Amino acid sequence: MDDTDHRWPCQACGADLRYEPGQTELVCDHCGHRQKIPASPEARPRLLGEIDLARGLARDLPSDAVEDVRQTPCPNCGALIEFQGAEHAMECPFCATPVVTGTGTARQIKPQALIPFALDERAARAAMTAWLGRLWFAPNGLVDYARKGRAMAGLYVPYWTFDAATRSAYRGARGDYYYETRTVRVQTKNGPQTRQEQVRRTRWSPRAGRVARRFDDVLVLASQSLPRSYTEALEPWDLSALTAYRPEYLAGFTAEGYTVALADGHDLARERMAAVIHQDVRHDIGGDEQRVDRIDTDWSAETFKHVLLPVWMAAYKYNGRTYRFVVNGQTGKVRGERPWSAWKIALAVLAGLALAAGVALVAQNR
Ligand SMILES: [Zn+2]
Ligand SMILES: [Zn+2]
Repeated sequence: MDDTDHRWPCQACGADLRYEPGQTELVCDHCGHRQKIPASPEARPRLLGEIDLARGLARDLPSDAVEDVRQTPCPNCGALIEFQGAEHAMECPFCATPVVTGTGTARQIKPQALIPFALDERAARAAMTAWLGRLWFAPNGLVDYARKGRAMAGLYVPYWTFDAATRSAYRGARGDYYYETRTVRVQTKNGPQTRQEQVRRTRWSPRAGRVARRFDDVLVLASQSLPRSYTEALEPWDLSALTAYRPEYLAGFTAEGYTVALADGHDLARERMAAVIHQDVRHDIGGDEQRVDRIDTDWSAETFKHVLLPVWMAAYKYNGRTYRFVVNGQTGKVRGERPWSAWKIALAVLAGLALAAGVALVAQNR
């Protein structure tokens, strides 16, 4: 099988198979035939192909860590759509613009692992409509529309994960509170008096020390198609479900290519790790307040993985506005734009006014 042309024809009838969420099987929607996805030899969880970071940044990767993919940027929003099998045209899942595959392929870092979809489309849609229904201000029409609307798109979203061992030396100061009693003169009805008052003060003493921490699978979004606030709201992911990458898991789904380069993803991961180290340092200093003057960190054993995480997406046009919803394909957690119904808000305002008026009347009659 050619790397650029993943196809899974049904052995019974030849129709296209698709990955069945929650299973390790492909199914044929045409005849019902099922086919097992073979387990990868490298499927042992701790060895999911961590790659040496320095080699990745230098673009010096072994040939089995890269692949040629058919990717086409969406002409409207720029999302990199990966075409599977015989697909040549599809709707951009982010903005519903038609995208037709180009002729070229791009050499990309291959995903080492993915979390297969656990929720199927029905379950994802049920999670979304339940979420919408709980929003009191959501327009009823939109809830109905979402329930009956067209299918959600199953999308594998690209992420980087980073590991690192760190040792940090720090310098700073520790602040401990103490209290001083002072005597103040105050004016009272009975003339001037003296009173004792407690005043809090901070005693600062210089501190220096070392902390160390190992980071495992620091997750960084490698796509710019969805706002980070959306994808962060889908966390946490259970990364223990990461499975060695096999293209079969993409059958019937869309994969997005990464548009955040490895080096930029690494910068973001380092920022996040540095924030954790800063907390470690403050904890190590102790006391009531801490001042951190400098931290020198030694980074070693840095590795990375490219992984794909499952997200169900829907974009609805309602009353001339587009609403986007995302559902975590592993946990069912929902995030979307919060739609407001004008008349429901108006009703709430009226109810509030009526209540206020009622209170005013009661007050007058007393
Ligand atoms: Zn079939
Ligand atoms: Zn688009």
